[in-house]
Amino acid sequence: MGYDDVLEKANEVVKKIVPQEHVITQILLEGPTVCIYTKSMDLFASGSDIVKQIAQTLHKRVSIRPDPSLLTSPKEAEEKIRQIVPEEAKITDLFFDEEQGEVTIEALSPGYAIGKEGEVQNEIKRKIGWSPKVIRAPPTASKVINEAREYLRMISSERREFLIKLGRKICRDVRGGEQFVRVTALGGFREVGRSCMILSTNESKVLIECGLAMESEDIKLPYLKVPEVLPLEQLDGIIITHAHLDHCGLLPALYKYGYDGPTYCTPPTRDLMALLLLDYIKVSHSEGKKPPFESKHIREMIKRCITLKYGETTDISPDTRLTFQNAGHILGSSIAHFHIGDGFYNIAFTGDMKYERTWLFNAAVNKFPRLESLIIESTYGGYHDIQPSRQDASDALQQIISQVLERHGKVIIPVFAVGRSQEVMLVLENAIRTQRIPPSTIYLDGMIWEATAIHTAYPEFLNSYLRTQIFQMNQNPFLSDLFKRVDSYEMRQKLCDSSEPCIVLATSGMMNAGPVLEYVKAWGRDPNNALVFVGFQAEGTAGRRIQRGLREMVLVDKGNPVKIPLNMEVVTCDGFSGHSDRMQLLNYISSLDPKPEKVIVVHGEDGRCRELASALHKKFGLETMSPQNLETVRVR
Ligand code: ZN
Repeated sequence: MGYDDVLEKANEVVKKIVPQEHVITQILLEGPTVCIYTKSMDLFASGSDIVKQIAQTLHKRVSIRPDPSLLTSPKEAEEKIRQIVPEEAKITDLFFDEEQGEVTIEALSPGYAIGKEGEVQNEIKRKIGWSPKVIRAPPTASKVINEAREYLRMISSERREFLIKLGRKICRDVRGGEQFVRVTALGGFREVGRSCMILSTNESKVLIECGLAMESEDIKLPYLKVPEVLPLEQLDGIIITHAHLDHCGLLPALYKYGYDGPTYCTPPTRDLMALLLLDYIKVSHSEGKKPPFESKHIREMIKRCITLKYGETTDISPDTRLTFQNAGHILGSSIAHFHIGDGFYNIAFTGDMKYERTWLFNAAVNKFPRLESLIIESTYGGYHDIQPSRQDASDALQQIISQVLERHGKVIIPVFAVGRSQEVMLVLENAIRTQRIPPSTIYLDGMIWEATAIHTAYPEFLNSYLRTQIFQMNQNPFLSDLFKRVDSYEMRQKLCDSSEPCIVLATSGMMNAGPVLEYVKAWGRDPNNALVFVGFQAEGTAGRRIQRGLREMVLVDKGNPVKIPLNMEVVTCDGFSGHSDRMQLLNYISSLDPKPEKVIVVHGEDGRCRELASALHKKFGLETMSPQNLETVRVR
């Protein structure tokens, strides 16, 4: 269906479903969403059933919005809101979303801003036209989220223009002809890092992931200069499954080189990407390297991010529909499911996935409406990649920490800012609260604090147990007094010099750089202390060398290299990985509903990809493949 056909059909359906008394002023396509503008405040305020009906009939995302003539200017609206809402609500922020005609009122005591039976909220609606949405202020302020909101507010008209243009592109006239589905490997095939591939059909082309490989001195880029990718304008969109840099680290560079289309991801992925990409620029500069993009390109990316929650389906091209589902790996991580050509084909990409319920997330989703091919990661897909369970891992961590604290030592845990650090925080908070380890302050150094703030802003993406704990029992473990933020050079020096037994979580996770090295420099000589690994240490990193027995590090002190003997105890607690181990990968495949016919194995070192592919073929009789970079596989 072309653009005009879609609008015509939308008009017809709206006429049929919406009762006559509601005046509809305009129907538009903004990006993948059918937007219905109305002068009827009632329809706009209470139209959720109607929205559902229209969406189901049209098979499109639908949003009912107030006609712009109803809206007071944001400035005036803000004044009125502050007059209407009682002071006790303690408003912390107001956020006008012109795309939706919605104003988010963030308050410390949201009940006062809602009023008895919603009377305060209704009065706001009547006086300003905007639909008020009242939310509890996130318990920890996140700089990244605030800045992203501020920026989107600033560029809202530009963004609307972008969405309208995109809406036309998604509904363009189709070429027709013989249908096919192909996957082209551009990076992260038979290797870990620089994940990137193209999913192409006779009508469309989407890029999935655009990562960097960073384990060695130089970064390695995906093969973007091949004719399948260029020119960038031919891409219908970019899909990012999660915020780790090996999946999105090169994305802003595409905007630098002229791509101006959408990036689809979940809301937490957008914010975590902004955090990690900005940090990547900072770290590059500090190492005297030139990053492949600048912060303005990250803003270009944010401007064109279309965020989808788990389970929300959207058109991304004339023949492709995308749905994200929970992948259990990090906050907002997703499995991308593609439905191609009205029942022609279904293919899903797991991204990085964990098929076990963890302290943070539910296990990866294994049910899909239809599924013919699956592209699966295989970080731990080798014959010997069996890992302890989460419970065993947590017990091992508690045991070593108890021992070190009892002998008045210090514990250094190198972590990535996003993922393992929040999980280890939960384990430690729980262990101290239930007196399984001695009380001790847990210091967080590096970006962990900000990453944790982003976690607290999206409790709906955490596992069901944590959600209950936070929402119903009002016990947010991330807000425990046990956690202290190390936020200045002075504080770090003071902590390094102190004799207090304590636990430090610090970045970087593989010890190639970052504040973790400062603690190793200060505490590495003392055998009472311990260095505890909880995450994967890639080949070529300092972390892997220490795991293998390296007992001396050359670190820079006041500009001079110094040799630090590592006399501290070195322990690895396996089982905290955000990746499925071999058993979990096999269980995942066997539990899939429906069963796919084909499985493409990616994101694992060469042997691991091939070992998992062969096991899946033998065990389940599936057609399996483990292509190399630059190969194209036709799946249908
Ligand atoms: Zn990852």
